[in-house]
Amino acid sequence: MLLRNEYLSLDPYMRGRMSDAPSYAAPVEIGAVMVGGTIAQVVSSDVAGFGLGDWVQAFGGWQDYALSDGAGVINMGTSPENPSWALGVLGMPGLTGWAGLTQIGQPKKGETLVVAGASGPVGATVGQIGKILGLHVVGIAGGARKCAHVVEALGFDVCVDHKAAGFPSALKAAVPEGIDIYFENVGGAVFDAVLPLLNPKARIPVCGLISQYNATALPDGPDRMNLLLGMILRKRMTMRGFIVFDDFGHLYPEFARQMGEWVRDGKVQYREEMIDGLERAPAAFAGLLRGEAFGKRVVKLAV
Ligand code: NDP
Repeated sequence: MLLRNEYLSLDPYMRGRMSDAPSYAAPVEIGAVMVGGTIAQVVSSDVAGFGLGDWVQAFGGWQDYALSDGAGVINMGTSPENPSWALGVLGMPGLTGWAGLTQIGQPKKGETLVVAGASGPVGATVGQIGKILGLHVVGIAGGARKCAHVVEALGFDVCVDHKAAGFPSALKAAVPEGIDIYFENVGGAVFDAVLPLLNPKARIPVCGLISQYNATALPDGPDRMNLLLGMILRKRMTMRGFIVFDDFGHLYPEFARQMGEWVRDGKVQYREEMIDGLERAPAAFAGLLRGEAFGKRVVKLAV
């Protein structure tokens, strides 16, 4: 079938596809179409179950049109409400937050959850689910504007600005009972501040390390590997990395039902930042890695 891409998702994992450093997925070859999640409309179809005008969730890449044999494509019908949300809270980033928190975080009512990248699509989902599950939720975000959004619109208990002076002590003050779950999205200096505050038996879903995606070498400084390993040992903590569809793809139907309900009921809020035109996608993507995105960055294709 021929798909006309209407919306293109911009996601941090794309940085890894632009490098031939070892990763869990092969890089995009020079001259090949850059990969990316898309929401598209079917223009013509010989594939059973897909007809003209259907909206679909696909992996159509950074281009106006894509050919598909239907593999991995989800039909959303002819008039889905907010189709682009399937690239965010109702799609891959939403599943990432929901599955990482519930499956690895193992949350229990009353515990303290700290979420990095709190205003982004994954972090915002994690923290809001944390509130639904009765946790004390502390977000970490860059700047006063994002922090105000995290508390006022998303309902986190507190948000700490990792760009402000005194960040480690502000974080410490925000978690008087220590941290039971740390949802890692960024790594770097944020993790340094979190590490001493983790409680015995803490769970750490290692979802992403965006602060390191442009790094070409390890940072200078003392080797802190044994500090980390010693903490894991003494505090009997669990750190577990995951790749969303490989590890939790089978949970997608349960996620879609549950998250659909929360979004419909207004229990989970969602912020989207729409970029106009494919030609703006490269700059918008570079900005995402610099912390310029405020909410989920999606490109509206103008065809
Ligand atoms: P985000 O929108 O949260 O990512 C961009 C944000 O990252 C920026 O706005 C900025 O937030 C923060 N950031 C960037 N650089 C730094 C830095 N040096 N230090 C601290 N924060 C920084 O993206 P997503 O919600 O889509 O993804 C969040 C994380 O989850 C990413 O690491 C991503 O790779 C990962 N991920 C992993 C998946 C998996 O299967 N394991 C699947 C999907 C996502 P601020 O301005 O607040 O600092």
